Amino acid sequence: ALAPALGCLPGDISVSFEFFPPKTEKMEEQLWDAITQLAPLAPSFVSVTYGAGGSTRERTHATVARLAAETDLVPAAHLTCVGASKGEIDEIADQYWEAGVRHIVALRGDPPPSQGGVFTPHPEGYASAADLVAGLKARHDFDISVAAYPEVHPEAASAQSDLDNLKRKIDAGANRAITQFFFSAEAYFRFLDKTQAAGITAPILPGIMPVTSFAAIRRMSGNTEIPVWLEAMFEGLDERPGPRALVAAVAAADLCRNLYEGGVRDFHFYTLNRAEQAYAICQLLGLRPKLQELRESA
Ligand code: FAD
Repeated sequence: ALAPALGCLPGDISVSFEFFPPKTEKMEEQLWDAITQLAPLAPSFVSVTYGAGGSTRERTHATVARLAAETDLVPAAHLTCVGASKGEIDEIADQYWEAGVRHIVALRGDPPPSQGGVFTPHPEGYASAADLVAGLKARHDFDISVAAYPEVHPEAASAQSDLDNLKRKIDAGANRAITQFFFSAEAYFRFLDKTQAAGITAPILPGIMPVTSFAAIRRMSGNTEIPVWLEAMFEGLDERPGPRALVAAVAAADLCRNLYEGGVRDFHFYTLNRAEQAYAICQLLGLRPKLQELRESA
């Protein structure tokens, strides 16, 4: 009998998960429920985002510090330099280092709407993510991830200058890049070829975003192409969250299978603080709970 396309993947992959810091007690419960469900998949790290312009500074820190104190997971704190002086960044970096946090996702951040969408560095701040990476590295020996854009960052002068910028971030000391979400495996592989040709050897983890809301995806997509077939898959599901979630899992799992077939073994999931989609996709990729196994054999 024919096995389903996804049925035979061996699960020889590693995963990481992104969360956002909760605003309310109820959201906090939802986050920790998701973390508890996903932790047995033994992610290589779990990251916590930083609100626009540093608006979640305290909440990001609280979530990351709790992950460090109460779980076996490796937490990674997102940190942006937009609107912050170098002194403020140093202070935050020191606090993370003291809390035992060793992994930072170093980003520039988006310009606030008041600056008309044009990034202007803080007068005493870092001019770009590459500068931030260098500053963090000089302060503490952090493990650093940076952002990469397979379909080019919207503000970049050209695809080549964006690639040069990624190279600068890696050369400044970043250990890996995590991509903006994308829906075409081909776009990712083309980008990977370009990074290799540019001499970038650091891993470039694909950022996988299950489509839970098509409107939100369109709002956030920037330069990311939304293929016609993807739009067709979600047609008429705006008011049907149940079927939409199932279709989203199938679409994301299919993307992951294509990536797997092209040799990808590390996957980064944008979870939006929900376990179901990421867990189901990992399951389809053959990944099974590991932590218990490790505990039992210890
Ligand atoms: P940079 O790498 O500094 O690049 C910004 C732009 O400037 C690019 O177009 C680049 O090509 C250009 N550029 C930089 N330096 C030069 C130079 N010397 N010459 C010419 N061009 C240059 N935002 C948040 O607010 N909080 C988060 O938690 C967050 N997490 C993210 C996680 C991931 C995985 C990704 C992909 C993005 C995330 N973002 C987050 C969004 C990010 O902050 C924005 O995309 C931001 O606009 C760019 O940040 P960057 O770190 O890529 O900037």
